[in-house]
Amino acid sequence: MTISNRRVFMLQVAAASAVLAAGAAQAQGAPMVNEKDPQPMAMGYAADTTKVDAKKFPKHAATQKCSNCTLYTGAAGSAAGPCGIFPGKSVAANGWCSAYVKKA
Ligand code: SF4
Repeated sequence: MTISNRRVFMLQVAAASAVLAAGAAQAQGAPMVNEKDPQPMAMGYAADTTKVDAKKFPKHAATQKCSNCTLYTGAAGSAAGPCGIFPGKSVAANGWCSAYVKKA
């Protein structure tokens, strides 16, 4: 496991813990994550998965988006919803970040 993969894994573990702690009580109407903020930038977050930098994230695929990520807890069909990586904020259903994990 590379340092980068380990970092993403640890973020995912932390996020999963946050999701469990917050449960379904996390606000659906939370403010949107700003792509330009330091943490989203560090995670490569884009509100539009088709705008992800392919050179920087060669494993990204256009079919990967928040709405089909394990960490997304927004309602099916909603335009945005909570994500454990960004507590207290909403991510775009069509967004993406480097912590993406396909929903089982
Ligand atoms: S892909 Fe979207 S839902 Fe998944 S961890 Fe990244 S921001 Fe959160």
